[in-house]
Order: sequence, then C-alpha cells, then structure tokens
Amino acid sequence: MELLDDIPVELDPETVLKQLHLSNGKYVEEVQELVKTAHSVIRPKVIYEVSYVNNRSDDAVEIDGVSFTSRVLRINLEKIERVFPYIMTIGKELEDTANSFSDLVKRYSLETIGNMAIDSIGTYFEDFLKRRYRLEKISEMNPGSLKDWPITQQKQLFSLFDNVKDLIGVELTDSLLMIPRKSASGIYFPTEVTFYSCQLCPRKKCEERQAPYDKSLEEKYGIKSARA
Ligand code: SF4
Repeated sequence: MELLDDIPVELDPETVLKQLHLSNGKYVEEVQELVKTAHSVIRPKVIYEVSYVNNRSDDAVEIDGVSFTSRVLRINLEKIERVFPYIMTIGKELEDTANSFSDLVKRYSLETIGNMAIDSIGTYFEDFLKRRYRLEKISEMNPGSLKDWPITQQKQLFSLFDNVKDLIGVELTDSLLMIPRKSASGIYFPTEVTFYSCQLCPRKKCEERQAPYDKSLEEKYGIKSARA
C-alpha cells in the first residue's frame, strides 16, 4: 500500500467564481477569502495499491483475490494484469468549516470549492501514476458510476486496504457513503483508448459529464442502459 500526502492543490479564485456562476463584483472578495480559507484547511491524501488481476469470468474480475462484479470492468481489464485501486480525500476540515457558516452562499461556495479540490487531487494522482509507472494512457472506473458496477461494490474496494480510517481518515458508512464526503474511490488501469463511464451513461443533464453518451458502446460491452 502506498500513501501520498504531499499533494499540491491549486484553486484559482477566477475559476471558482466561474464555476459558481458568480462572476459579478459583489462576490469576488468573499470568494477570494473562501479560497484562501480552503487552501489553509484542505488536507489531501491518497492511498493506493499496485494490484494484479487474478481471474476473470463473464461478468466478474478478481483483483488481489477480491471478486468485483461488473461486466464493463471485466471487459476493460481483458488484457490488463496490473491495476491501481485507490481511495482519496480532501479531509473533513473544509466540511467542518462550511458547517460553521450560517450563510448559504458561503456554504454552497465551499461545497463547490471542495468538489474542485477533489478533482484537482484526481488530476494530480493520474499524472503521478503515469509518471511513476511509465504509463502512456490510463482510465478509471468508480463503484456506483454505472448500474453495471453498483455502489455496493465499495465494500470490495475498501477490503483491498487495511486501516483506511487510520491512514487517511476515510470511513465507509453502512449506506456505503464515504465520510468525509469529499472523498473518491476507484480503480485506475492502463488503456490504449481512454474510457469514461459517461460514455455508457444516457443521463441528459449532468454538469460532471466528461464524454458524450455513446449508445453503440453498450453493444460492445454487452449491456443495456448502464447508468447507476
Ligand atoms: S454523465 Fe454524469 S451521472 Fe453519468 S456517469 Fe458521467 S458523471 Fe456520472
């Protein structure tokens, strides 16, 4: 198991204002102040494993002895031996700070800043994996992003790690949510063509969409309407 805790997170107030659709003068100073606060309380951490695919069946793939049920994951790992399961977080301090405000705009702004921070850690981690393991291209899948790989599979993912709470402060609740909320988990794998779960997700309105829905891919993966 590897732990990363020296992770730079650069949050640009201009980009935050754009994301919040608050580009007019009224909120500029307030958001600049919140970004400063966020920088001082965010505690980014990532744990990951260098894991190996042991077995494959029709709709499942075994990684380090743990079986994951997902046809899409299984097909994505068809020719792959080495994968990188991970859990990452920005810590609970930003959430605590947001909860201390009664002003809803401030709370919402910190919520958005937290989302941008976890995205920034994700980008850093992806670049780190590519550099460290000399991988040209990698993709990831996350439990719960598709119906084909439901959120219940978080349990299997967490079972690949020991002491997640002690190491990075992340807990999995009985309802399979991660605490702190600004955390993420998944499996990175080398790929020749970048894969996005969004390509298999027909959802019409989603601000997080990373790639267009591609119905023809459902055939390739042998699934129908794969959204969670
Ligand atoms: S389109 Fe949105 S809901 Fe669908 S997989 Fe992508 S991010 Fe998730």
